[in-house]
Amino acid sequence: MSVLKKLNDPQLGRQMVKIVKEQAARVAERLGRAVRLMEVCGTHTMAISSTGLRGLLSGLMELRSGPGCPVCVTAAGDIEQMIAISRVPGVTVATFGDMVRVPGVLSSLERERARGARVQIVYSPADAVALARDNPAREVVFLGVGFETTAPLAALSINEAAQLGLSNFSVYSIHKLVPPVMRALLGAGEARVDGLILPGHVCAVTGSKAFAFIGEEYGIPAVVTGFTMVDILDALHVLLNKMQTGDSRVVNGYRWVVRDEGNLQAQGAIKDCFYPGDAIWRGFGVINNSGLFIKEHLARYDAMRKFGLDTLERVGGLDLPMPEVDSVGGAGQCASCNESPRDPMGSLSVAGGFVSDGGAVTQPVGIAGGKMEAVGNRFTVDDAAEPRGCRCGELLRGIITPPDCALFGRKCTPASPVGPCMVSSEGACAAYYRYGATTTLVPGVERLKG
Ligand code: SF4
Repeated sequence: MSVLKKLNDPQLGRQMVKIVKEQAARVAERLGRAVRLMEVCGTHTMAISSTGLRGLLSGLMELRSGPGCPVCVTAAGDIEQMIAISRVPGVTVATFGDMVRVPGVLSSLERERARGARVQIVYSPADAVALARDNPAREVVFLGVGFETTAPLAALSINEAAQLGLSNFSVYSIHKLVPPVMRALLGAGEARVDGLILPGHVCAVTGSKAFAFIGEEYGIPAVVTGFTMVDILDALHVLLNKMQTGDSRVVNGYRWVVRDEGNLQAQGAIKDCFYPGDAIWRGFGVINNSGLFIKEHLARYDAMRKFGLDTLERVGGLDLPMPEVDSVGGAGQCASCNESPRDPMGSLSVAGGFVSDGGAVTQPVGIAGGKMEAVGNRFTVDDAAEPRGCRCGELLRGIITPPDCALFGRKCTPASPVGPCMVSSEGACAAYYRYGATTTLVPGVERLKG
């Protein structure tokens, strides 16, 4: 049997489930509670849900999701910055599909596109470069969202743009680094996890050594693994073994892809283009040296510099240009609408917790735990802000699971998402909603529930 078939073999999977269940029962009995593990990758979250593992192990093992979805961890302020960029005349925003639907405080890229903004979905940063090359009269801004896996591709796209001599291409880099957020999560001690499943593709770039600190500093085991049912079951088996023996060293269970020192070429591409700086994460706030920002010598490709936006070493909210704020006054006021298609925001009034965007409709601004303030023709979004009732922040910190959010499956669904964790194809809420607690073990990750 080929390795690939083995990794997706349901019979092997069933045997492994039996072993893992027996192991988990022993560890759970010793702990006096279900074993709690965290997967730190949106692809793992989807695989765990879609293969039925979550349901099959329920009662013995809780598999919590962490900050592994790049769309979900994008800060509220960055969503607003992206929306602000999309409103600039002559700009085309190029982005991966999931970002388009993430709700901001007042709008989304999808909504801006419906109002006339040019928002183009691309499948790689190279597509965005091609878009700039083919549309020299427009400024193409690529929204650089992702972890160590996508940052090298963004770096290569900047190199390509330089080689082509393009002056109409830039990257809004909010790439993030996984080791610092894991340090923040474990250091906070809120999630209380017994072990970690580490992201195979991130580790392919960083190397497994980059996560050695987990065992050394926090005393919990962690396993790097791939994305098939058998990969994940093997990781669970190794983690449970280590919990029984008290060994907390990081194990590289994905050796055919991940080297201990990682991919030096990809690391070099990142270093040539980016420098590490403080970044804001949804649910976490500012984490030191957790973001990647474009180096000075490539400033002409940096959308933050081009558009005069702050770098992410900012704390305490962002001042964003808000065109045509008509009034700040009593609740329920409406503003007159500007019909110009290149003023996609139209006019807008912010008033006592309600917003009206050029029509008779008023709606709650929907900020919880944060603030939105209108001052003159600017407004400020506190980066702690989440849509009202949304618990994505706690979810990303591993404190809750999606059904703990009162909006889950009621007000918040994939068709009408309230928070990014329901929007993203790697989001925990989307995974739980799509697959529920299915207990049918299936290979691969494509099977739909029911
Ligand atoms: S169910 Fe919706 S509102 Fe609740 S945490 Fe998930 S994404 Fe946020």
